[in-house]
Amino acid sequence: MELAGQAALLATWEAGLAAGRAGRALLLHTVARPGVGAAELLAVPLGERDAELFGLRVELFGEKLDVRVGCPGCAEEMEFAFEAGQLLGAARPAAGARTVSAPPSVTEALRVELDGWRVRFRLPTPGDLAAAEQAPGGLARAVLLERCVLTAEHDGEPVAARQLPEPVQRRLAEAAAAADPCADVRLNLSCPGCGEPALAELDIASYLWEELDDWARATLLDVHLLATAYGWSETEILALSPLRRRYYLELCADA
Ligand SMILES: [Zn+2]
Repeated sequence: MELAGQAALLATWEAGLAAGRAGRALLLHTVARPGVGAAELLAVPLGERDAELFGLRVELFGEKLDVRVGCPGCAEEMEFAFEAGQLLGAARPAAGARTVSAPPSVTEALRVELDGWRVRFRLPTPGDLAAAEQAPGGLARAVLLERCVLTAEHDGEPVAARQLPEPVQRRLAEAAAAADPCADVRLNLSCPGCGEPALAELDIASYLWEELDDWARATLLDVHLLATAYGWSETEILALSPLRRRYYLELCADA
């Protein structure tokens, strides 16, 4: 990674330390799509953002992702390796079907009808998740519904979004996931120990943040060790090629 890239990533990490989940996701998305304003990034469909975060992840840390999940059967910690392309490929509709099921834009209304309930709604965006995250405890889902439900009625009478019964809310979530599959990367796993099946969701924004956090702390440690040993500045140390940096660190460790 180039010096400018490393310095920018460290700045992103520093800004994200004080931010919540949505704030960190936005910071990462800004790295993935530089030069685009926050308002625009917060208004894209979640699946579009997540596909871009997968791309950034591949660029920064490579194709292979290790996913750790606790087994619901025996509580054993399971670890699985995936290729980023494989995860996105599974989430995306098949190439031939893409014209039929490409994610609708967030301005397009989706419809759900169930037992006399009729709901028109739009796909949630990162901005909706950010608003939901800031809602007082327990109200996150109500905020998300109010933002994304365009109209709701029961037997022809208009109702408030937060009054939609649980089965209708579930149907909305399913319809949103079907319309924007990259926003909802689910992994069907089974425990190598006890064979119990487990369903894991991969939230690429949180996953990538954790990796960035590990990378930033390791990088600062390298800077600390080399600055202490040689008196070099942070900029000078970040400008070293990975090979030279490792070589000097080994010399420090041997000394
Ligand atoms: Zn198990």
